[in-house]
Amino acid sequence: MAGEVELAQSAAPGGDTIFGKIIRKEIPAKIVFEDDQCMAFHDVNPQAPTHILVIPKKPIPQLSKSEDADEQLLGHLLVAARKIAAQEGLDKSGFRLVVNDGKNGAQSVYHLHIHILGGRQMQWPPG
Ligand code: AMP
Repeated sequence: MAGEVELAQSAAPGGDTIFGKIIRKEIPAKIVFEDDQCMAFHDVNPQAPTHILVIPKKPIPQLSKSEDADEQLLGHLLVAARKIAAQEGLDKSGFRLVVNDGKNGAQSVYHLHIHILGGRQMQWPPG
């Protein structure tokens, strides 16, 4: 199975993604949070004991393609990530948020998402 970095080399922005199908409930996901602007669900290929993706319902392909007018929504995603981290019991021990952008960022799904990673000690620098 191709790794995320390999997948990211051929992934390209444009059109509907698998996350669009999750928003429309066309394919299943382990949803842990949903409101009018965003949704959060467990990553299918977890990289930590807790690995959740927070996505806007608006199909912004990647952070670098967001607009100044998305400021409220982008803030909303961070507030949601804070709430979800607390809901999942990560707020005492700490956690990491990651946004991969484009090829060098190893983005493989072109629908903006924040990774919430927790439940183990993270290392720095990231790979
Ligand atoms: P990125 O590399 O930042 O684009 O991350 C995309 C993430 O989406 C990866 O961690 C994948 O494991 C995850 N992913 C892909 N398809 C699904 C799916 N159907 N349900 C949940 N997570 C998924």
